[in-house]
Amino acid sequence: MTAKSDKKQRDQLWLLGTEGRARRELVAEVAVRVRTSRLYHYAVPDSLADAVRPGVLVRVPYGRAGQMREGWCVRVTRGTWDQTYKPIEGVIVGDALLDETLLELGLWVSEYYACPPGLTFDTIVPAMLRKPRVRKVRYIRATGRTVDKPLSKQQQALLDVVGEGEVHRDEALQAAGVGPSSLLTLRKRGLLEFITREEPDVRASSDNLGVATAVPENEEDRFTLTTGQQAAVEAIDRATVTPGEFKVFLLFGVPGSGKTEVYVRVICRVIAAGRQAIVLVPEIALATQVVERLSRRFERVAVLHSRLKVSVRERTLRAIAAGAVDVVIGTRTAVFAPCRRLGLIVADEEQESSFKSLAAPFFHARDVAIKRGQIEKIPVVLGSATPALETWTNVKRLPHFELLRLPERVPGAQLPTVKVVELGRRELGQTSDLLSPVLTHRLRETLAAGQQAILLHNRRGYAVYLRCEHCGLTVTCERCGAHLVYHRADNRMKCHRCGAWSAVPARCLDDSCGGSLRRAGLGVQRLEQELGHLFPKARLQRLDSDTMRRREDYAAALERFAAHEADILLGTQMVAKGLDFPRVMLVGMLEADAGLWLPDFRAAESAFQLIVQVVGRAGRREGDSLALIQAENVTLPAIRTAVEMDYEAFAEIELGIRKRFFDPPFSRLIRFICADAKASKARAEATGLADRLRVLAGRIHAGIRVDDAEACVIPRLREMARYHVIARAPREVDLRPLLHAAEREKALFPRVKRFTVNVDPIEML
Ligand code: ADP
Ligand code: ZN
Repeated sequence: MTAKSDKKQRDQLWLLGTEGRARRELVAEVAVRVRTSRLYHYAVPDSLADAVRPGVLVRVPYGRAGQMREGWCVRVTRGTWDQTYKPIEGVIVGDALLDETLLELGLWVSEYYACPPGLTFDTIVPAMLRKPRVRKVRYIRATGRTVDKPLSKQQQALLDVVGEGEVHRDEALQAAGVGPSSLLTLRKRGLLEFITREEPDVRASSDNLGVATAVPENEEDRFTLTTGQQAAVEAIDRATVTPGEFKVFLLFGVPGSGKTEVYVRVICRVIAAGRQAIVLVPEIALATQVVERLSRRFERVAVLHSRLKVSVRERTLRAIAAGAVDVVIGTRTAVFAPCRRLGLIVADEEQESSFKSLAAPFFHARDVAIKRGQIEKIPVVLGSATPALETWTNVKRLPHFELLRLPERVPGAQLPTVKVVELGRRELGQTSDLLSPVLTHRLRETLAAGQQAILLHNRRGYAVYLRCEHCGLTVTCERCGAHLVYHRADNRMKCHRCGAWSAVPARCLDDSCGGSLRRAGLGVQRLEQELGHLFPKARLQRLDSDTMRRREDYAAALERFAAHEADILLGTQMVAKGLDFPRVMLVGMLEADAGLWLPDFRAAESAFQLIVQVVGRAGRREGDSLALIQAENVTLPAIRTAVEMDYEAFAEIELGIRKRFFDPPFSRLIRFICADAKASKARAEATGLADRLRVLAGRIHAGIRVDDAEACVIPRLREMARYHVIARAPREVDLRPLLHAAEREKALFPRVKRFTVNVDPIEML
């Protein structure tokens, strides 16, 4: 077949009008569910004119061969076209959960995070909602074969009921008054056959939803707000009632300063105005107290998180869309909750990295919330005691960001006394590798007084550094003094600050000592063993991701501790987050500067945040509580300022460093990761990518910098070697054209097993 006749045949298949002549018709733009960044145009046949609306899932021919694919209809326009479009073949799911706002938001996410629009909408609309609601229904009918052997009475009755037609299985059994065994016998003898058909599932779907009911009167409603709380409520309220005001508020206050109470009061007014609110929380397992508090205060609260049962999730989403829910509390994907009358979005603990998605699209829920606020013209409230430095910078720079301070804790709540303990030389009589004598002593006192303690040991396995067994000195960089991380794969040391590599020293760097070096990095398990030796009678509760897989495990552990069935709660960073236990009079952090060795420009920020959070866990009511922060280097700015609970001092110092190294918020990053079973391939492809990006960057903007490809700090993950390339530019708008150019020139298709593009990456390991 010649190319010409080939084309002609295709045109005949798809032709709706006369080729080459302009005509008016309905055309839909579709985000096809394939890896393409484009939207495709399709003609809407007359028969589907009513059914094809924005937000529905359609079936369309795609590609040269016109293979059938699914896609999200994004827009429908009636226009004059001088082009022939293939027609949409059918509508798969007609009740659109994607409304105009979510479509616009989805397209923005797709563009901003460089993820194909079809795949982005898949994230917004959970998988089960993409399928029409059908169920399998069984029918039986007679085969017409003659009866060779005599039948039992029951069998005959069933055959009579079925007759010539086709009967619903259960109805037939009931009408004949027989059990399934007669049916099976008749089938075995070839007299009856089964037919299974899919039929629309019309069963009711809005019942039995995870909506809590309220206690109407609550003592918290009668709290006299602090001056700070009052001012915050009023400021947010003004933006809520004025129709069409997009504003971002940073509610900035130490733990226990009453931020949650501010959310509650503002949400009250949003609901009273007939609108809905979304409250984003970092992790549902740790948000039980927030969920409880909101459910206590509001009548129609729904909880959304990734581990909900499919059916519950679906019902909840439909209830939200139907307006049967006032407040949605949820983790990052809840930012896409189909609220039709949204009045407010809150992101609690906005600095938390769990707001960043771990798969494409790598969206950040806080940033998507801000975008949604802009689209819907509503206020967005970000709450934090330790705002992300990006947010802090935005508050200082952008006119639509407003800072609301809650300078002190609410009446009756006091921050504990905070002390730092310098770790170093092992003291005489020290019985523990991890606990200093003063922390051991305080623990003993706390236990003796029948009170509780929380111990945080944020030791991650891959942050291995070397420490002298004799004098406690850690191996640091000769060039810049930062701690060196031991890389097992290369058997070398790397500096996280200046990137220098060095050999592993054999002995302590202090010549006068010369002690032998030991790999440090003792985990929570070791802490548990030591506590067992020191305090054999104490009841321990461990909380970490090694021991806990499921949400229920966390909840059970926390409940146990809340009920004082355990004396010491120990674990990794999650013990620092979101919990409020009045009986905790001692909080200990074992190695506050442990995270600082990480080769990640956010290491200091994370360390600071963690210290402030864990301090906030102690004695929220009683007073006289103590937080002991152990660190090797107590003079590090992150440690010093955190112990003083001085966020602004920290921000100033850290922003100075970020500026010097052209790190965010002074630049925007894109991280490209090439992963492959073959390390050589991953390296070669990443190197090639860096070269190509550099060429493109040179054409676009002088301010774009593309670093050399290098092995990731976590060099292997799930059996694959990982190399990354980082591109940075002063502003996000400078990177956008780089991505576009790369896409156009097919630079973004390295031949590796797994390739990811992460815009505004958080995880740098
Ligand atoms: P944050 O969210 O900043 O940690 P919360 O809103 O949880 O602070 O407040 C801490 C505690 O103080 C809570 O138990 C809360 O019920 C209580 N609280 C909040 N505001 C007030 C107030 N104005 N007066 C008295 N108690 C308050
Ligand atoms: Zn030494």
